[in-house]
Amino acid sequence: MKLQKQAKVPTIEIDLSRIQQLSQEHDDENWKFRSWLKQYAPDDIDGLVRTLSQKYFALIDCRQCANCCRSLHVEFKKSELHTIAKTLGQSIEEFQKQFMSEGTVNPPCPMLNEKLCSIYEDRPGVCRSFPHLEQPEFTSRLIGVIDNVAVCPIAFNAFEELKAKLAWPRP
Ligand code: SF4
Ligand code: SF4
Repeated sequence: MKLQKQAKVPTIEIDLSRIQQLSQEHDDENWKFRSWLKQYAPDDIDGLVRTLSQKYFALIDCRQCANCCRSLHVEFKKSELHTIAKTLGQSIEEFQKQFMSEGTVNPPCPMLNEKLCSIYEDRPGVCRSFPHLEQPEFTSRLIGVIDNVAVCPIAFNAFEELKAKLAWPRP
């Protein structure tokens, strides 16, 4: 009798250097998983990914990480930029000159204070939804997701568990 190989359930990984290294090693695999998902993702994929996101948000403390705020170029809405510049006592032009290039805020975000957001309650929408796993149409946003797994422990662990959960037939 031929038994199907059991998918290995991954252990949680929170070390940022290790996540970056593993994401590079998994790059080819991640793109193959993306192609497979495009064809075979179950109907409830958005709900499944939302549940994984909530699971890892509960297990991983963003206050001990802040890697997104430290390493990503972020695009804020104009009204959000105005609020942030005002908080820093600057005009929008001064803020743009000091902290932005090509329409995005350069990392590290000037609102980051050690590992905490100094405007947490009023942080921009893109910060609230990062790593965007709880947004609809997961399978149409996989390029961004694959970019984020190398940066964000929540995205990395959720994506790895998704591979195991869906019993993806690894090539
Ligand atoms: S505004 Fe706050 S949450 Fe958003 S990138 Fe800056 S420090 Fe991070
Ligand atoms: S969202 Fe991800 S990268 Fe950002 S602080 Fe939380 S775990 Fe770290």
